[in-house]
Amino acid sequence: MKIAVMKETHQGEMRVPLIPPTADRLVKLGAEVVIESGLGLTCRHQDSDYEKVGARIETSRGEMLKTADIILRLRKPPIEEIEQMKKGCIHISYLDPFNEVELVNKMAAAGISAVSLEMLPRTTLAQKMDVLSSQANLGGYVSVILASEQLDKVLPMMTTPAGTIKPARVFIIGVGVAGLQAIATARRLGARVEAFDTRPVVEEQVKSLGAKFVKIDLGETGQTKDGYAKELTPEQVQKQKEGMAKACAQADIVITTAQVFGRPAPRIVDEGILKQMRPGSVIIDMAVESGGNVEGSEVDKIVEKHGVKIVGLGNLPGRVAETASQVYSANLGNFVDHFWDKEAKVFKLDREDEIISGSLITHGGEIVNEMYKKIMNK
Ligand code: NAD
Repeated sequence: MKIAVMKETHQGEMRVPLIPPTADRLVKLGAEVVIESGLGLTCRHQDSDYEKVGARIETSRGEMLKTADIILRLRKPPIEEIEQMKKGCIHISYLDPFNEVELVNKMAAAGISAVSLEMLPRTTLAQKMDVLSSQANLGGYVSVILASEQLDKVLPMMTTPAGTIKPARVFIIGVGVAGLQAIATARRLGARVEAFDTRPVVEEQVKSLGAKFVKIDLGETGQTKDGYAKELTPEQVQKQKEGMAKACAQADIVITTAQVFGRPAPRIVDEGILKQMRPGSVIIDMAVESGGNVEGSEVDKIVEKHGVKIVGLGNLPGRVAETASQVYSANLGNFVDHFWDKEAKVFKLDREDEIISGSLITHGGEIVNEMYKKIMNK
């Protein structure tokens, strides 16, 4: 089977989907691995590094698209490339399917089997392939580094001859994978950390990282079977804002990571909260690319409102591209390996398997993903 790995076309993207050790792994599975020339350069992987492990370098993107049985990428494919792909080709990447209706329809019509890595079930077995987790973890780390750079204070407590410097206060909103890493990173830097999530089950995790859980009674919130938060009612959102106002007002840094699966991010830090915050404090809106948690945050910009710096920089994992590529590539390698028939040396698209049925969006000319169809009312 021919596995082609395409160079990223998204402007400013420094991450690469496959690094040489994973190419080596795929070659050893018996795949014919074709790498687009220059693929790894942004992370200092030369074409020759891929060749050394038995992959072939190709300069014609069109030829790769036309002949590949499997295409691996980081981001969604450019829409104009879909009709160049071979019918029946298995395409594995992020797909952003809820926002990319036209792309999904075109992939279905072209007979592509499109796997959306965002849709992998959050099960123990799928953890090794879970790109959302591997990237969100790094995003959480970067958010604290970015915030500390924007803040004009130090994070740790310091006892000095000139007096005691108090630790900075950090408030993390949303304690999924990114939020947990943000708590851990802020704690390592010595900050005093508080956190809140609508899923009460995370209270123990917050405490185990040495942070305080801010309790707000929102009534029934719960979570989905995959552990995702449910969308709050407008009344619950209002209660949440009131409950968080004090923690925000006391914070030097607020990091928001709140997401609701398949929906725009909830808007939970509003003008009223901003007005109560201290001038000079910093907010990192990690949800800025999916609608934003913070009123006034702008994608790829740092804006100031009521003296508060609101950082809306996108693609935070891309700021540690070498590490992000290492783990993304490992996730891809694990995905292919898991479904690889070692004797026949082919990838088996086992539609009975819950990992495939959860993440496969299009197949055989149709949209086949039940959850996608339900959320999109198809
Ligand atoms: P996510 O990115 O979907 O959301 C981030 C966080 O925002 C979540 O913790 C969510 O509860 C929270 N949130 C939503 N609305 C909020 C609001 N109004 N206010 C405050 N917080 C709000 O989450 P994620 O990091 O992708 O994790 C989702 C779930 O998957 C979690 O339960 C996580 O533990 C679980 N998970 C499981 C595995 C596994 O077992 N394989 C791997 C990774 C994650």
